[in-house]
Amino acid sequence: MPRTVRTTCAYCGVGCGIRATVTGDREVQIAGDPDHPANHGRLCSKGTHLGETVGLEGRLLHPMIGDDRASWDEALDQVAGRLRACIAEHGPDSVAFYVSGQLLTEDYYVANKLMKGFIGSGNIDTNSRLCMASAVAAHVRAFGEDVVPVSYDDLDAADLILLVGSNTAWCHPVIWQRIEKARERRGTKLVVIDPRRTETAEQADLHVPIAPDGDIALFNALLAEMDARGLVDREYLERNLEVPEGFFENLAPPVGDIAAAKFRALGDLVAARPRMVTLFSQGANQSRSGTDKGNAIINLHLAMGRINRVGTGPFSITGQPNAMGGREVGGLANMLACHLGFSEPERADVAGFWNTDRLCTGPGLKAVDMFRAVHDGRIKFLWVMATNPAVSLPDTGFVREALARCPTVVVSDVIADTDTGHFAHIRLPALAWGEKDGTVTNSERRISRQRPLFDAPGEARADWRIVCDVAARLGHGAAFAFDGPGAVFREYAAMTALAPRHGKVLDLSPWTATTEWHYATLKPFRWGGEHPLARRFPTSSGKARLVPVTAPVTANDPSFPLRLNTGRYRDQWHTMTRTGLSPTLSQHRREPLVEVHPRDAAALGLAADGLARVVTAYGAAIYRVQIEPGQRRGELFVPMHWTDTMSGAGRSNRLAAPDVDPVSGQPGFKNIAAWIEPVAADWRAFLVTRDAPAPDGLLYWVRSRVAGGWLTELAGEGAIDAEALLPQGERLEVADPSKGMRRLAVRDDDGALVAALYVTRSGDLPPREWAAGQLGGTAAAPAELLAGRPMTPQPSRGPIVCVCHGVGANDIAEAACAGAATVAAIGSATAAGTNCGSCRPAIARLLETALTFEAEAAE
Ligand code: SF4
Repeated sequence: MPRTVRTTCAYCGVGCGIRATVTGDREVQIAGDPDHPANHGRLCSKGTHLGETVGLEGRLLHPMIGDDRASWDEALDQVAGRLRACIAEHGPDSVAFYVSGQLLTEDYYVANKLMKGFIGSGNIDTNSRLCMASAVAAHVRAFGEDVVPVSYDDLDAADLILLVGSNTAWCHPVIWQRIEKARERRGTKLVVIDPRRTETAEQADLHVPIAPDGDIALFNALLAEMDARGLVDREYLERNLEVPEGFFENLAPPVGDIAAAKFRALGDLVAARPRMVTLFSQGANQSRSGTDKGNAIINLHLAMGRINRVGTGPFSITGQPNAMGGREVGGLANMLACHLGFSEPERADVAGFWNTDRLCTGPGLKAVDMFRAVHDGRIKFLWVMATNPAVSLPDTGFVREALARCPTVVVSDVIADTDTGHFAHIRLPALAWGEKDGTVTNSERRISRQRPLFDAPGEARADWRIVCDVAARLGHGAAFAFDGPGAVFREYAAMTALAPRHGKVLDLSPWTATTEWHYATLKPFRWGGEHPLARRFPTSSGKARLVPVTAPVTANDPSFPLRLNTGRYRDQWHTMTRTGLSPTLSQHRREPLVEVHPRDAAALGLAADGLARVVTAYGAAIYRVQIEPGQRRGELFVPMHWTDTMSGAGRSNRLAAPDVDPVSGQPGFKNIAAWIEPVAADWRAFLVTRDAPAPDGLLYWVRSRVAGGWLTELAGEGAIDAEALLPQGERLEVADPSKGMRRLAVRDDDGALVAALYVTRSGDLPPREWAAGQLGGTAAAPAELLAGRPMTPQPSRGPIVCVCHGVGANDIAEAACAGAATVAAIGSATAAGTNCGSCRPAIARLLETALTFEAEAAE
């Protein structure tokens, strides 16, 4: 009997509510929850297709010690025993936890309590360090506490929205849909400040293509301009702000990098529209000057009094579903729980609440420094929970060396085969989305429940419970005697009563009395209300601070004269361990592309669709080339998602420098000194297989999911070793050595296709999707299988644009030629963009191209 469960999306910090209808064993239908205030029923492509990722394929279902299956008791005894021995011999700072914004608040709370409260080290840090630690630091410097002073309602009420370093249409699509609605409804103007002309920037009223790390210069100049126009709110400033001497005098004039007309247009919009929200994300945060960028943005809002009022405020949006929850309960190494710091009075309160005499005395190591300490042997025990640092940290070559050297690596994860898991001595099976039970906090401080849809598979356990079981073995059972996530939540809520004692705003103490029934039925709620800083700023003076910031200077390196930015794709999430399982989501981008400006490509001998090697001082990776006029000259862009499990050489974070922001410790994944060169392959091929292939020793390979199997792109030098790539079975083959063409198909005893390989030297290959669609089927004739296409030609849809309805670029072009002149009209004609809406910016881009082509043809 189907049952519907209200839960929260597994992916980004928008925190969309979901109505999940369980229809069978590991089967679920996903719909947006119309009653959830974060999304009002909307979902993006990732959320919509969560149902394709809940299977048990690739799951870690039993504890493992080395390569051997172990019982929970054996595994937990080993974890606790090694922890205890390491602490006894080398002290508490010789151990560390590296946790994740994928953890629920309850998981995070107990992990932090164990490390900081009972092991007595600050060495717990979260992968949110890579995502928004600079925004946290900027909040603390300006407001005195890490508080997001706005909510999504302010986006609905704004007359001007500035997006800084945010490809919102791809990375926070439901916020993007909200912005689209505001523009339709109230004529809200949209400015995108970003080096790249992304799909988001293409939709803006104004795109300001700053140089990488040009944000501080721009915002300082903008504030100087507003001051010159008499728009600094002196009365607000007098009452509410601490202003360092000479602050306004030291703001720099407009930056030479931005055309004067663009800067004037930006200034006119900011001057004319007081209801202004500035939304900033990883493009601002993932920088060696990310904290200063956050403060440059906040300075503008504070000085103009554009904060704490409807439709105004600086808005840092988080990347992960529970990055904010981790910030609240002390997941960052430089904070105690409940936004408390390490002053003696704060420490005393925390130690008293937890009834411990082991509370750590100061902050622990932040992510990059933590792995340095693992590398040089100061940390000898590392427990990684729900994250994949061998892929996601910068300079992953160094990180892998560190993991390989560490005497004990414990990994709690849902996936058996992750890049980080390869280094683990002990692996612990955790619960995945759809099994977890607890709470998450989204970007606007709204706490929602994640509820289980399925029973725990195999022997998988909740992260909070695993941590408590280890704590008990270390002799701290009484402090970790929780009987469920509701009990953890109550303790955390009670603990937040400490925060107001130290002038903080965070306070969930009214939820201390949450009963089990109330917890089970908890509705989404937002702590702090709409504008939590409206009454006073949580500093000792009650005033916010303007923070002087200066623009960084990018040093030129003649060996690496280009600048590399990394970022995300619309339909992939982090290191693809989940979204990479979805055949539907895999259609959007099957390979990692390096985007290059056309003139740079011509100068460097890079061909569209060819291969290129991107090189930095830290490593090299190979990508397929996309010529992209939206790139600034001299700059490159690559995605961060691909792992060694999914590709041979496309792991991007091996390229990033481990340099961090000096305040926040967040690494800079943008503006990396780089070089690019073409890569010549002797042959190119694609392979469709039922089972996941693991090609070895090839120049290039990237695999992606299709229904019923895998599609792998390959390229190599010398002769291809087809035998190594194909399984056993009845073999069909055709070849034309003069063209370097070779095609092979393998069928099982029932005549069903098991695998097919299409090789070329000329680059001419049949359409992938048809061949992939034959996996497991018996309908295609041998001649069709070898041709890679049906005898009766079918029109090609082109690259899939709308994954929900399987609409391709050619379908959209055809509808445009038939008279559909708007995104809505394309939707009516093809259904594209009518479900989750994530592809609407892409449709707009294709439409513009098609209409321009039509107009030129008519002249
Ligand atoms: Fe999930 Fe998409 Fe909503 Fe983010 S915007 S929470 S990925 S549905």
